[in-house]
Amino acid sequence: MNPAVAAAFAGALALVGRGLGWLNTGGALASSAVGTAVFTGGGPAGAALLTLFFVSGSLLTKYSSRSRRNRLDAQTGGRTARQVLANGGCAAVGALMIPSWEGGWALLFGALAAAQADTWATEIGAFSTKPPRLISTGVVVPPGTSGGVTLLGSVGGFMGASVMATLAMVIGLPATVTIAGLLAGFVAMMWDSLLGATVQGIYHCDRCDAVGERPRHRCGDRARLIRGWAWLDNDAVNLVATCSGGAVAVVLWWII
Ligand SMILES: [Zn+2]
Repeated sequence: MNPAVAAAFAGALALVGRGLGWLNTGGALASSAVGTAVFTGGGPAGAALLTLFFVSGSLLTKYSSRSRRNRLDAQTGGRTARQVLANGGCAAVGALMIPSWEGGWALLFGALAAAQADTWATEIGAFSTKPPRLISTGVVVPPGTSGGVTLLGSVGGFMGASVMATLAMVIGLPATVTIAGLLAGFVAMMWDSLLGATVQGIYHCDRCDAVGERPRHRCGDRARLIRGWAWLDNDAVNLVATCSGGAVAVVLWWII
């Protein structure tokens, strides 16, 4: 797609997202950049896949956060630039490679399928009546804990990636890319949970006796690092997971 046309469409979509409260201002700017890259390199097919992720993920988040009482770091105000880049950065890189390398499609679709699977798993898993278990040890943890997984969430994540794969087939992506991306998306979702359960920085607020993902608790107090690496926050885990999804998809596509 012509870059100017791509930027116009991406900007319009980001404005709608900003208007609906799905994105904050920084998130809207990042979303415009990601959208411009994906629409330019991926054309209408890339645009359809990215729009599916953006709309379905935002609606699920909006709907699910209302029901999510125990979410530890409940946040409002829409997705930030970091969150947008963590979810869409690798897809954008893949899209920009497409004109010169066919594998760019696998990178684009694998990264988006990973983001889709993880978002759907998180939001649908929030409705689970059974408490999540840590993917690494199987220990029962409070809802919203990083690395905690439920059967409902995992099924939801697979559904998310499958819906995206179905759209990919309908709009004519090669079957090899679609199958590689679907499998990679599911693997990346597990990888995301495993990183969340092991190396992601997790904090404890002594004042509220609460566990969270951020160095400053929502009460305003500084929280204490109780496990993981301080620099590896939830956005960094998402970035690693979506890029892994893209990389695994490229490898599978190359093998198939
Ligand atoms: Zn606190």
